[in-house]
Amino acid sequence: VDPERDLLAGVGTRMRKEGLLHHGIELRVRGQGHRIDLTELTGGRSVMVYAQQEVVKDLIAARLGAGGRILFEAAASRVEDHETDRPRVRFAQDGRETTLACDFVAGCDGFHGVSRAAVPPSALRVFERVYPYAWLGILAQSPPPSDELIYAFHDDGFALYSMRSPSVSRLYIQCPPDDAVAAWPDGRIWAELEARLGPEGGRLLRRGAVRQKAITPMRSHVVEPMRHGRLFLAGDAAHIVPPTGAKGLNLAVADVRLLARALEAVYSSGDSNRLDSYSSTALRRVWQVQHFSWWMTTMLHRAPQDTPFDTRLQQAQLDQVTRPGPAAAALAENYTGLPFED
Ligand SMILES: Cc1cc2nc3c(=O)[nH]c(=O)nc-3n(C[C@H](O)[C@H](O)[C@H](O)COP(=O)(O)OP(=O)(O)OC[C@H]3O[C@@H](n4cnc5c(N)ncnc54)[C@H](O)[C@@H]3O)c2cc1C
Repeated sequence: VDPERDLLAGVGTRMRKEGLLHHGIELRVRGQGHRIDLTELTGGRSVMVYAQQEVVKDLIAARLGAGGRILFEAAASRVEDHETDRPRVRFAQDGRETTLACDFVAGCDGFHGVSRAAVPPSALRVFERVYPYAWLGILAQSPPPSDELIYAFHDDGFALYSMRSPSVSRLYIQCPPDDAVAAWPDGRIWAELEARLGPEGGRLLRRGAVRQKAITPMRSHVVEPMRHGRLFLAGDAAHIVPPTGAKGLNLAVADVRLLARALEAVYSSGDSNRLDSYSSTALRRVWQVQHFSWWMTTMLHRAPQDTPFDTRLQQAQLDQVTRPGPAAAALAENYTGLPFED
């Protein structure tokens, strides 16, 4: 968060009013808490906790407020002719098939969208790692156990204690990737969350009504390049990070910021240099963030195949990060967001 500037064309106003500004996180290692002072370690930066659906609402309001048009409930079936100078998006709305003629297509339709699928497999290089664990996430009517996020490393596995508001917690537990939600009745969830938080767990956590439960697999995924003709992939359509570093949406925003500036240069002065370097510039950040997300994930989770040697290495890494020094500073720099290249 840069308190001086609204980096996204005025869409941060409500977030600044209603979001929760955090200056640190806690790493809790086998019940022992260590605060990472993000603001001190980064010379003044911090992070904002603000639900993703609120970001989407603000973006929609800004677009409509500027007189722009958004087609809701319009399912794209394919992107075509993106190797020509007249790409098209086919979509259906109100049961009617329609085609949208475009100058460029921004493929921002997430991991399961149609944009990436429009690129011939021979033109894409795919890099992927699937982790041998998943996250069970719940939304609970319960005050968060702390004002700041707690990342817990425990012999039973990872847990994350975060919040939506002062009365609603967003809580995650590492679980096997093939687990079913039905295997996690509320009592089991709370007991694991208390155990992973350590001896104070019972005191800090307030059991409350569980409103949502979902299991998310963990993967790292990148496709290169992020451009094919006049189709530009951005966000989860081009890359997935495991959620441990809280970077997926941030990375998606960094992509579209770059793409928006590149398109602005084309339309204002006919300069296509930025558009030509979009993929290589975006991928430099993508791989930095992939590395950070992989690093946080492997440091904080227990893998079923871990040997005692792996566990000692993990402990050594956690010892380094939880004392003042370059490892803690690197975590803080990455967690609060790397600088933009332009
Ligand atoms: C458990 C969990 C926790 C996370 N926590 C964080 C966090 O703390 N911080 C963070 O930065 N990120 C976090 N993320 C990641 C973040 O949610 C994603 O990286 C982000 O949503 C990617 O944005 P996107 O716009 O690229 O894709 P999406 O959010 O997936 O949006 C794609 C959009 O395209 C639409 N679409 C798809 N296909 C079609 C089609 N055929 N036709 C029309 N529309 C279509 C979809 O409906 C959707 O609206 C988390 C993710 C998970 C799973």
